[in-house]
Formats: sequence, structure tokens, C-alpha cells
Amino acid sequence: MSNEQPDRFSDRELQAMAEPPPHAREEPAASLHSALTMAEAKKFLDFSPDALIIVDALGLMVLVNSQAAALFGYAEAELVRQPLEMLLPARFHTAHVAHRLDYATAPLPRPMGVGLDLVGRRKDGSEFPVDISLRPVLLEQAFHVVGAIRDITVQRFLERERAVQTERISQLTALIDLAHDAIQVQDPLGRILLWNRGAEELYGWTAQEALGRVAHVLLQTHFPESQAAVDAELERAGSWEGELVQTDRQGRALVVDCRRVLIRDEHSHPAAIFVIARDITERRRQEQAQAAVYTETLAQRAFLQELLDALPSGVSVVHGHEARLLLTNHAAASIWGAPWPVGQPMRAFLEERHIRLVEASGRALREDAWATMRALLDGETVLQHQEVIRQPSGASVPVLVNAVPLTSAHWQSLGVQDEQGRGQPGHKGIREPLALVIYQDVRLLKEAEYFKEEFIGITAHELRQPLAVLKVAVGTLLRQTARGHGTKLSSWQQEMLQDLDQATDRLTDLTDDLLDVSRLQAGRLSLQRAVTDLVSLTQRVVKRFQQTASRHHLEFSSDQARLEAEVDTRRIEQVLTNLLTNAVKYSPQGGPVQVTLSTRAAARSVEIRVQDGGIGIPAYQQARIFGRFMRADNAQAAGIGGTGLGLYLCRALVEQHGGQLWFESTEGVGSTFFTTLPLSPDVSSSGEAQSGPWAKRHQRKM
Ligand code: ADP
Repeated sequence: MSNEQPDRFSDRELQAMAEPPPHAREEPAASLHSALTMAEAKKFLDFSPDALIIVDALGLMVLVNSQAAALFGYAEAELVRQPLEMLLPARFHTAHVAHRLDYATAPLPRPMGVGLDLVGRRKDGSEFPVDISLRPVLLEQAFHVVGAIRDITVQRFLERERAVQTERISQLTALIDLAHDAIQVQDPLGRILLWNRGAEELYGWTAQEALGRVAHVLLQTHFPESQAAVDAELERAGSWEGELVQTDRQGRALVVDCRRVLIRDEHSHPAAIFVIARDITERRRQEQAQAAVYTETLAQRAFLQELLDALPSGVSVVHGHEARLLLTNHAAASIWGAPWPVGQPMRAFLEERHIRLVEASGRALREDAWATMRALLDGETVLQHQEVIRQPSGASVPVLVNAVPLTSAHWQSLGVQDEQGRGQPGHKGIREPLALVIYQDVRLLKEAEYFKEEFIGITAHELRQPLAVLKVAVGTLLRQTARGHGTKLSSWQQEMLQDLDQATDRLTDLTDDLLDVSRLQAGRLSLQRAVTDLVSLTQRVVKRFQQTASRHHLEFSSDQARLEAEVDTRRIEQVLTNLLTNAVKYSPQGGPVQVTLSTRAAARSVEIRVQDGGIGIPAYQQARIFGRFMRADNAQAAGIGGTGLGLYLCRALVEQHGGQLWFESTEGVGSTFFTTLPLSPDVSSSGEAQSGPWAKRHQRKM
């Protein structure tokens, strides 16, 4: 509030005030009211309820009524003969004097300061908004002006309030129209008072069409129980929420999620109902469709479970990098010896139940070697993987495991739902690996196999004795005949004896092989290792062969003069003999057979290669050629005899030495068999190794 004194006028102002306006002095305006006396005027002023002030031509207040004095906080006497400007803030003084003088030039009754915010100043310095009407009067025959002053503080406040309210309402209306939801305001009888754009879009009626209509009639609303129940709840709780079925302008049924709020007036009487509705027709339709699919999927899953439980093999479906169980069957539980809970990772299950997965040899199987993990992590299809399950009870269950990676498309068809909702109808974007794992309990097979091995072993063993007797007898007969002892045999008898001798040899070889196989199966085939020079050993075998194989030309070469390895000489000889026998036997037309020894310095091993130009092995049988009793079709078709045990034994023997045996073959072109064997640690000191393994080749024709 300004504190300036009412009498602080500039000299110019005071002078201007002292001068009566020219018109007032010279020719009083015709419109002036008829002359009043001061006493009459005073009476009139006191009688009026308004604050009135009469100012003379000099701008001095000549009459002030009590209302005016009270309005400005003065006593009447304090104002009389004082300049009018003392009732204004000082900042308006100059302008006011100018206005006043200006008014005197055209003194008509009019409100003062149109378009201006007029401000009064009380005695205490406080200011307030005023509205002033001016009217010229002739008082005591002189020009005066009556001013009626009204304090418009309250009016201004109300105006401001109204402006704010108007602004709020217009913002609210804009917001209501912006909302996607259908918004209505209804009167307590349900007649529509407000209908936003969302309502127009949802129901199809424009605001113009909808306003004034009864909402539930227009929209043919079906209430969950009854309209009365909804109204009662609205009345009781002030709001209601629920689903309604309504009909739009086109007659389509809509399902809406609806909220209603009751608005009460200051007397707590219902004034209006605020209604928000959201269209959930499509969502409900989708949910219903999904629910139907889900129910069907569950039924499929139950059927699948029934099927699985009827299977004799253990079946599990696992997912993710931890192999969490999705689905399993009864047989699996009996193979594990414990039930595997759905959702549990495989390792956690095995640890919790003290179950171990081991190799056939009894060595623990590394997690990444489990058929299940290979299928899940590498996407590999693992077939007939031998694993042994050590059950919680300690029992061992040998199993053959088939693990097949599945694609994500299988999730749904499995009817499976995991903890993240995957596999639920409508679920998309599954990236976790999934695998089907089948465990075949081979305990019975193993037992049968064991008995078979036992039988073969015993039979072979029992055959050896009579065969040895036969061999000795035939040998003696042949030798004695050759020396001319005893009865002379005819030539056909001698031929028969020789056939008998060869057949005995073949039978002996077969029983030897069978015995080896049964020893191998039982893990009883042990090696008698000794440091041996592989160059001379191989050379010896090749030489022996060359003596009998007249139609074949055997070549031997080695990059070293001497190659020492710790091997079972008899067994390595057996391997080489077998490979050479095959090379000769399966190239019936004759031809070269090359035997090559070469060192692999980095791997500290030797590679023995036996190459022939014979009938070769058909590609479609190559993968199985190392199997027991496995013979290729072309060998049998060519009438070449054999048992199919040699290669099986050779590979086992070489692997037992820490080496490897494999081959490359083209049917009709020939075969090359490769054998690697680890060398003794001091190989660098032997032969030519110091000057480089490939420096000089030792080549000899046999
Ligand atoms: P077999 O007593 O039948 O020779 P093996 O186990 O030694 O038994 O060989 C298995 C099969 O592999 C043979 O029957 C033959 O079909 C094939 N085979 C082995 N070596 C050769 C070779 N050098 N050339 C062609 N086929 C071979």
C-alpha cells in the first residue's frame, strides 16, 4: 500500500486546480442539473445509500456523504475542502487531474474511466478497486461534479473466479473430448447432459442427438443384475464399476467396461452421474477364443500325457539352457528312480536326488556330454547314446538315450505352459531351446547280451581244445606221409588232409577272434606292453605276407629307420595281419598293396597306412563297418569269406593302445586303412627324427 500524503500535489497541479475550467467559468453547460443549494445537496447526499462526493471546479471536495467518508476511512470533515486526488494513489494524480479538467470541457453524466481499472486509496494507504459514475451539477450556481463511488472488490474477485472457472471448464471439456473413452454426464434421471467425442465414436450418436435422451433407453443397456441394483450401489457407495452390454446406433452389441460416479450438490442431493465407458468387445471376444483354445490345448495335453504314460520308455520334454522339465511320464520316473518335478532344471534334480550319470565304463559323464544337453545346447540329434543312471538307491540302469531338438512351433502342440506363460495360447516369440529325450532301459538287453557273450566265450573256449587236437593230428599225418612213414596215402587223401589242415586253421582263427571279442566285452582283454620297434615289426608282417601272396605286390616304406612304441607286440601284429589280410583278400584281382609308416612329430605318434586297390567298401555301409559281425554286401556278393569280427577287434585293440583306426574307401577303387599309435617319449632320439621326419624315406620292396 502506498503511504504517500494526500496533499503532495505538484505546483502545476495545484495551479490547474485553482483555475476553474474555461467552460465552467464562461458558459455553464446546458445539460447541468437545475441549481441546488448546498443544504439541499447535503440532504440528498446523506439520503443516498451510495458513497457520493461533490467536487467543485477546482477539484476540491465540497460535499462528502458519510458512506463516502466511511468507504475511504476518513471523517467527513477531513475530506471537505480537500483535493479529490487525496482519495487516489499518488501514481494516478497527474493523470487524474488531466482527466478531471478534460471532463469539465464536456461534462455529461457517464461512468468514469471506461476501460480503466480505477483504484481508490483509503486513509490507511490501502487500495481497492472502484467504479465511479460522474454527473455534473449546478450547486450554488457553480459548476460541480457529483461522483458516485462503489467499492467493487467483491465484484472483481467474483469476476476473476468466474474467469478461472470458465477456463477450467473449457480445459475440462477439451480433455473430455480428447479421451478415447466414452464420457457422459447424466442427470439423476439418467438423461444425458454431456456426451463427448469418445461417446460419439463408440455409440454412433452425435452429442446433439444424444443430449436429453435417457441413456439406458438409448443404449438398450443390459445391467449385470438389474438397473435398480446398480443405482442402489451408486447411491450407497457413490460409485459403481462393472461390465455392461449396450447397443450402438447400428444395432451392434457392445461390451463396455463402465464406471459411474454419483455427484451430489451442496445439500447432498444427487446432482449428476458421471459415466465413463470403455469398449472391451474385441478383448472379450479374443479372451473367449483364447480360453476355448486353451481348454482344447489342455485336453490335448492330458491326452498326450496319457499316451506318454502308456509308453514303456522314459520320455521327457525339457527346455532352456538348464534343461528344465516341461513334461515327463511314469516310465521316466522309474528309470531315474525318483520323480522329476516339472520346472526343475535337470542338474538340480540329479543333485537333489543324488542321481549320477556315468559312462558305460563307470566314469562320470560331463554335463555337456549328456545327450539332453547336446540336443538343447548344440541342437544335435543324439541317437542311441549309452549312459548309465546311478539311481538314488545305488542301482545302475544302463540306458540308450535319444535326444532330439524340437522347434518352438512344438510348444503349442505340446499343450505346455511354463512358468512364464510360454506355450499358452497366443504366446509368441519363444526362443528357448526345446528337446525331446527318450530313455530306453536296456537292463534286459544287457543281460541277454551278457549271456550271449558268456555263451560265445564258453563255446569258443571249448572248441579250442578239440581243434588243437585236430590240428596236431592232421599235421602229424601230413608230416609222416611226407616222410614216407606208415601207409602211403593216395593223392586225394593227401589233398583232403591239407584242406582239413587249412579249415582247422580258419576255425582256430575264428575261435581266437571270438575269445578276444568275449574278453573285450568283459573288459578282460589286457595288453602285455613292451618297447617295440614298429618299423621292424611291420616289416616282418609284410615280409610274411609277401611269401604267400603271389598275385599281390607288397610295398613297404617308412620315414624312419626305427620307431619305438610301447605296445603289445602280439596284438599289434594281429592288427597289421588283419589289415593286410583284408587288403589282399578284398583285392582278388591282385595288384599293389602299400604299407607306409610316417611319424607325426607334433602328436608324437606314428601313422601306419595300408592301401589297396581292391573292391572297396560301399559308401552306405561305411559307417557301420567296424560293428561286430559286420560285412559289406560287395564282399559277400564276391564270395569272399569272412566273419566280420576282424575290424571290430582291430579298432578295440588300437584304441586300447591309445591310438585310432579309420579308413577311406571308394567302392571299386580301393581302400586305405589308417592306424595311429603313440610313440615312446624318446622318439626324437631314434632314427632320423633329428634331421626332420620327412628328410629321408626308407623304402624297400618286399
Ligand atoms: P572279415 O572277416 O569279413 O574280413 P573284417 O572285420 O576284417 O571281417 O572286415 C569287415 C568287412 O569290412 C569285410 O567283410 C569287408 O566287407 C570289409 N572290408 C574290410 N577290409 C576291406 C578292404 N581292404 N577292402 C574292401 N572291404 C574291406
